Amino acid sequence: MTASSIASTAPTSDGAPAATKRVLLASPRGYCAGVDRAVVAVEKALEVHGAPVYVRKEIVHNRHVVTSLENKGAIFVNETDAVPEGAIVIFSAHGVSPAVREAADRRLLKTIDATCPLVTKVHKEAVRFADGDFDILLIGHTGHEEVEGTAGEAPEHIQIVNSPDDVDNIEVRDPDKVVWLSQTTLSVDETMETVRRLRQKFPNLQNPPSDDICYATQNRQVAVKKIAPEADLVIVVGSRNSSNSVRLVEVALEYGAQASYRVDFATEIDEAWLEGVNTVGVTSGASVPEILVQDVLAWLAERGYGQTEEVVTAHEDLMFSLPRELHRDIKAKAKAAQG
Ligand code: SF4
Repeated sequence: MTASSIASTAPTSDGAPAATKRVLLASPRGYCAGVDRAVVAVEKALEVHGAPVYVRKEIVHNRHVVTSLENKGAIFVNETDAVPEGAIVIFSAHGVSPAVREAADRRLLKTIDATCPLVTKVHKEAVRFADGDFDILLIGHTGHEEVEGTAGEAPEHIQIVNSPDDVDNIEVRDPDKVVWLSQTTLSVDETMETVRRLRQKFPNLQNPPSDDICYATQNRQVAVKKIAPEADLVIVVGSRNSSNSVRLVEVALEYGAQASYRVDFATEIDEAWLEGVNTVGVTSGASVPEILVQDVLAWLAERGYGQTEEVVTAHEDLMFSLPRELHRDIKAKAKAAQG
């Protein structure tokens, strides 16, 4: 644990020392490699091609990021039907199904695929197991864009398992030919409980070739587990539709935080949450820019929580290169500029 600033402990009116108000700041938090790549991909596409550039769905699930990109000239659409024929469309970090790619091809759209490589890895696993005629039990949340994209790779073979309670209703063709895969942003503990129940039902259930819950999701959960037992309140910065942010609230509560809330912005924090609170834990989801966390820390400091200790449970240095098609466009533009 490293203290980044120290506050004095002022005495109370009866002379007893007041309990120190402090913040435990989880690390890692915020942007992951896949989100960083997707956001930079939109920015670079705007630089290279000029506005507007269309983006199918939110590029990442964060209100601040989406609004900032809109201000730079990105237009977010729900489906490729809303993109003018021949225009540029970027697929979000959550990935798309083959049907979406085909729809984009039919409209002659120029596509840039910002799907996180760790989501693409799960797509490839789904295709491989479907080719082997397995029943695939995809643990994830129905309706989430990532799950729709992965399930779309092999709809005949994939069933979605939302929670451990779903297991009772799952039927497969051959109990000896079943594999589980998962969404990348789930609670590790809940997923393991779902797998335990699935394995009770299907003892020969196969595991994915490697972890589907991604490094960033896992690392942020480990960090929040570390701060939660000491925290009276854990504030998670992240948007409502950000799966990994919502999971961080659940994990904080499970691991002993007295209360936990998710906010998009510091202005959403309710002063009443601080009643009787000495230690505030702070973290953020994988799609959250650090500036939003710094706003929360400043808001807390104004209310006496000026001592911040960063609790570091892992160091991350993973980076992904930009989508290939964007690389090609950047190179072509540079060449044209040279004449
Ligand atoms: S949360 Fe994980 S899977 Fe999703 S974009 Fe980030 S690294 Fe990729």
